[in-house]
Amino acid sequence: MEMQMEFIRQLPKPQQLKEQFPLDSQLKEIKERRDDELAAIFRGEDKRFILVIGPCSADREDAVLDYMERLKKLSDEVEDKIYIVPRCYTNKPRTKGVGYKGMLHQPDPTKEEDMLAGIIAIRKLHTDILKNTGFTCAEEMLYPENHRYLSDLLGYVAVGARSVENQQHRIVSSGVGIPVGMKNPTSGDLGVMMNAIYAAQNRQRFVYRGWEVQTTGNQYAHAILRGSVDRYGRTMPNYYYEDLQRVNELYENMHLRNATVIVDTNHSNSGKHYEEQIRIAKDIMHSRRHSGDINRLVKGLMIESYLEDGAQTIDEGVYGKSITDPCLGWEKTESLVRELAEEV
Ligand code: PEP
Ligand code: MN
Repeated sequence: MEMQMEFIRQLPKPQQLKEQFPLDSQLKEIKERRDDELAAIFRGEDKRFILVIGPCSADREDAVLDYMERLKKLSDEVEDKIYIVPRCYTNKPRTKGVGYKGMLHQPDPTKEEDMLAGIIAIRKLHTDILKNTGFTCAEEMLYPENHRYLSDLLGYVAVGARSVENQQHRIVSSGVGIPVGMKNPTSGDLGVMMNAIYAAQNRQRFVYRGWEVQTTGNQYAHAILRGSVDRYGRTMPNYYYEDLQRVNELYENMHLRNATVIVDTNHSNSGKHYEEQIRIAKDIMHSRRHSGDINRLVKGLMIESYLEDGAQTIDEGVYGKSITDPCLGWEKTESLVRELAEEV
C-alpha cells in the first residue's frame, strides 16, 4: 500500500527562517543576558523566585503583546524578588489529538491549518515580544525537531506531561542550552519525570534533522509538578509539602545537578479551577518558609494567566480570553504577583 500522506510543500530550514527574520545585535545581547540570569537562579546563586507566567496558549498577537507589555511593567516593579519568564506557548498538545494545536498550526484559530504561515507567525510573535519588552519567553517543546526555528529567542522550554516519557524529547533537551522543565506525566509517576531529567542532564548522541549530533548535557533540566489523574480520571494534586519533600529525596538519590522544582499551579493541581492557582501559590510559599530544603528546591511557579478570567470557545472571540485552559485574568494576576513578591 502507498503511504497515505501528501507532501504539500517543503518548509524553510530553521537557518533560512533565521536569515529571513534575523535578530539585531542588541536583541542577541538581551537574550544572552537573560540566559545568564536564569542559569544563575537555577544554580542557586541568585535567590530570586521564578514565575513562568502567561496564557495557556498564545492565540493572537495583539492580545498577547498587550499582555506582555503589562507584564513587563509588573516585572519591573517586583524585579528584586521575582524573575518573570513569560509563557508564550504556540505549540499545544491535545489529549485527543484534535482541536486547536496552537499558532504553529493555525496562525488564525478560526481558519484552516497552515504550517508555513505558522512558523513565520510564531517567529514574529517571539521577536516582537523581545523587541517590545526585552522578554525571552517559555515555550512547550512539543516537536523537538522544530526547536531551532525559535532557539535564538527562547529563554525556557517545558516538556509536557504527554511527551516526557519520549526518548526524542529527552535527548534533544540535553542539547538546547536553556533550562528545560520536565513535567510529571499525566499518570503522576515521578520516576518518569526524574528519568527524563537524568537523560537530559547527560551527553547524548543521536539523529537530529538528518544529522548525527552530539550534545553536552543540560545541567538545568529540572522538574515541573503539574498534578496527575488517577485511573478513574480524578485529579490528584502534587504540590503538597509531602510531595515536595519526596521529590527532594528523589533528587538526592539520583545525584542530579541543580535540583529544582517549578510547581505548575493549574492543570491537574487546580483541576483547572483557575482561581485556585492563587491559593496553591500561597500554599507553596508557606511550604518554602517551613523548610530550608523546600525553599532551595522550589525555585518557582508556573501560572496560567491572561487578560480575562477563565476560558471561552474559539467562536466567542473575546479579546485576551483563553481558548484552551482557563486562566487568571489580569487584575488577579497583578495582585497575586505583588503578594508573592512580599512572600519570597
Ligand atoms: C500546558 O502547560 O498548557 C500544558 C498543556 O501542560 P501539561 O503538559 O502539563 O498538560
Ligand atoms: Mn494549559
